Amino acid sequence: MGDEKLLERLRELKRERNAVVLAHNYQRPEVQDAADFTGDSLGLSQQAARTAAGVILFCGVHFMAETAAIICPDKSVLIPDPNAGCPMANMVTPRELAEMKGRHPNAVVVTYVNSSAAVKAMSDVCCTSANAVKVVASVPRDREVLFVPDQSLGDYVAKQLGRPLILWPGYCPTHHHILAKDVRELKARHPDALFVCHPECTADVIALADHVASTSGMVKWCHETTAKQIIVGTELGLLHRLRKDSPDKAFIEASPLADCPNMKLNTLEKMVWSLEDMAYQVTVPPEVAAPARRAIERMLEIK
Ligand code: SF4
Repeated sequence: MGDEKLLERLRELKRERNAVVLAHNYQRPEVQDAADFTGDSLGLSQQAARTAAGVILFCGVHFMAETAAIICPDKSVLIPDPNAGCPMANMVTPRELAEMKGRHPNAVVVTYVNSSAAVKAMSDVCCTSANAVKVVASVPRDREVLFVPDQSLGDYVAKQLGRPLILWPGYCPTHHHILAKDVRELKARHPDALFVCHPECTADVIALADHVASTSGMVKWCHETTAKQIIVGTELGLLHRLRKDSPDKAFIEASPLADCPNMKLNTLEKMVWSLEDMAYQVTVPPEVAAPARRAIERMLEIK
């Protein structure tokens, strides 16, 4: 089936199933274009909670669909490919976190949303890349903070606040493919270009940035800046969104290797199959969902 036929079938199925399609900013261009909403993981889940749809087709990786299932317990959440996991989220298991908490019994556990529901359920508060600094700043200075699982984001937050954090040794393999030497070369080749990057990048890459932001923050900043050339240090899928949003600007990828294979597992065909078969359903047991939801809600309460 060609893309047009697939899109037509997808529209029919969305009507039949009363479904909404959400796509993360790192998805394939054609998947982003077929979605009702594109955005970052938490923004998409909040969007899902506001819609009247009974079915959410979440084109992203597994922890994102889990977050939607936690926030929208009354809706069916589907993921087109059940193998779309996140290596960074898999770098912390509940058993490992329990051991670490045992070693730091008074630490406040701040957990990045890029984590499993079971890990969120063991955390005091969640954060996103957009609000991590604000969330950690809300913890009294005399309390230790255990930041899970992204050490790069945690290190960025620690530097912003001038405050030591206990960092979990997790990282995003895709963002760590972006190397400082490549960014320096690109800056030399494009002297008028500004460099924007995601805080999942390594510290030496972040040190070269004119602006550091979440994917949604990057979209906003790139739209508002007067710069006409921008080097982009994040997963390659965001470039599609940036080019659509700011067609008058030139976006240069910081590394052709910043391509998350898990994010790219979802395709138009799998989206159609998913709605046809109502598969693959992502559910979170109530005893895990309730404490995980509390950690997410605590984050949302921080002004
Ligand atoms: S880009 Fe990184 S954090 Fe996002 S899903 Fe891929 S591996 Fe996980």
